[in-house]
Amino acid sequence: MTTSSLLPDWLARTPHLPEFQVRDTLHKYGRYDARTKIITVADLVRFHGHLCGGLMEAAVALRAAFDALFPEGVIDRTDLSVISNNSACGGDVAAYLTGARARFGSHIIDLSLGGGEFIVRRASTGQVVHVRMNPDVYPSEVKVQMRKLESGDFAPEDIDLFGELQWAYAGRLASRPASDSTLVDALPDFVWPEPTCQDLGRRRDNDFKDRA
Ligand SMILES: [Zn+2]
Repeated sequence: MTTSSLLPDWLARTPHLPEFQVRDTLHKYGRYDARTKIITVADLVRFHGHLCGGLMEAAVALRAAFDALFPEGVIDRTDLSVISNNSACGGDVAAYLTGARARFGSHIIDLSLGGGEFIVRRASTGQVVHVRMNPDVYPSEVKVQMRKLESGDFAPEDIDLFGELQWAYAGRLASRPASDSTLVDALPDFVWPEPTCQDLGRRRDNDFKDRA
């Protein structure tokens, strides 16, 4: 599949497909890069492997969280920690967009969180936000079909139907502003939990990002 066809045309044309302008360092032990990068939903698909409802939920939820944490618009991927559930889909998007890594303790897994639900911390300001999907967008038809597949009792066409329902949900989310599909709350007193992975060391490559 070529880059240009990673997203179906109907999705690429939706008016609120999220995009993310991010800043990183220029190199290992480098200072901040003066340039920024744009991460698109197609990039998320390239990393995660497929387009799905969970990917789009995570993209929309984190778009809303970043709007709260980075009102200036540029997301600093050296400055974020995140808590997500252990969904392959949402967890991948959280890692890619925040720069947080489970192996450095900055991406924490909390199995009590739902799909499209994240707690995001901006280290330099200490701000923590909790974002979750607005119940108004709950995709009951997707969940019903997912449970059917997970029961193991399904026909081949049920897999196809599940794919269609997920993509329709993704399209609905990308057709409205992220703020319409999410609920964002500040958590000023949130106590950040201990890492869920064994301590294998911390991230070092950004250590000198602010050096003259
Ligand atoms: Zn997925």
